[in-house]
Amino acid sequence: MTLKNFMAIGEAMIEMAVIGPDTYRRGFAGDTFNTLWYLAKVMPDNWKVSYFTGLGSDAASSEMRAFGEDANIDMTPAREVEGKTVGLYMIHLDDGERSFSYWRSDSAARQMAADPKALREAFAQADVLFFSGITFAVVLPEHRETFLAELAHARREGKTVVYDPNQRLRLWPSTADMIEANTRAAQVSDIVLPSFDEEHAYYGDETPEATIARYQAEGVKTVIVKNGAGAVLAQTVGEDAITVTPKIVTNVVDSTAAGDSFNAGFCAAFFNGKPLDEAIQAGAKLAGKVVQSHGALVEISE
Ligand code: AMP
Repeated sequence: MTLKNFMAIGEAMIEMAVIGPDTYRRGFAGDTFNTLWYLAKVMPDNWKVSYFTGLGSDAASSEMRAFGEDANIDMTPAREVEGKTVGLYMIHLDDGERSFSYWRSDSAARQMAADPKALREAFAQADVLFFSGITFAVVLPEHRETFLAELAHARREGKTVVYDPNQRLRLWPSTADMIEANTRAAQVSDIVLPSFDEEHAYYGDETPEATIARYQAEGVKTVIVKNGAGAVLAQTVGEDAITVTPKIVTNVVDSTAAGDSFNAGFCAAFFNGKPLDEAIQAGAKLAGKVVQSHGALVEISE
C-alpha cells in the first residue's frame, strides 16, 4: 500500500527546560515539529508524516533525527547542512513565569531552502505540505522567494498547502516586514489556521469574521480561526461559516503547543474526509488535553 505523505516544513530545536537548581532536561520541540509529533500519533495508518528541515552532521543533530524517528516521524527529507547544527532554546522559570532564551540565528534549519532542486524533489513526495510563519522567518531572506515559488509549484501540482501564521515579532526586523511575509505565505496556501489574538494585535481585526475575509481575499480557500478558550470560526469559500465552541477546560496548566496540537487533531480528521466542523472538534479536543499538562509534547490517552 502506498502511504499518503503529510510533510511539515520547519525547525525543531533542542529544548532545555529547568527542572532544578542548575539542572535542565533536554528535549526537542518547535511549532511544526510539535504538530507532526501529535500527528504521528493520531493520523490513520494509511498516512506517514515526514519532516523537511535542515540538520547538521553532529551528535546533537543525530539525536534530533533519532528522536523524530522514534516518534514515527520520517526524518529522511531533512537536509544535512555541513558545518551547522540545530538551534536551541532554554526555558527559565521565575516565580512561575516562563521566559525563553534562543540560540537559533545560525542554525542548520535556516539553510533548509538553499537548494531549489532539493525543495522540488522533497515537496513532490508529499500530498500535504504544512508550514508556519516561524518556518518562513527561519528560511534565510535570500531563499524566501524560491521557497514560496516551490510551494506555489507544489500547489499547482495538486498538493494541499496548509499554513499556520504563528507570527513571532522577535523573528522579524519590523511588524511591517512580518505582515508582508505573512500575506505572501498565505497567498500560496489552501488552508490557513491563524490565532485570533495575533490577527487582532497585528492587523487590528475586530472579529474572526474580519480575519477570514482578509485571508480569503488573498486566495485562501479555507480559514480556521483559533481563539484560545473561545469559539473557533471557520469558513470555506462558497460555504456558510461554522462556529465550534471548545469544551471548557478548567485546569489549564500550560498552553504551550495548544495551537500546534489543534493543527494536528484538525489535519488528521480533515485529511481523512471528516467535515470541517468535526475536524475542528477533533483539533479542539486534542488541544484541550494538551493544555492540561506541562510542556509542548504531552503523552495523550484516548
Ligand atoms: P490558541 O492558539 O491559543 O488560539 O489555541 C489553539 C486551540 O487550543 C484553541 O482553538 C482551543 O481549541 C485550544 N485551547 C487553547 N486554550 C484553551 C483553553 N484554555 N481551554 C480549552 N481549549 C483551549
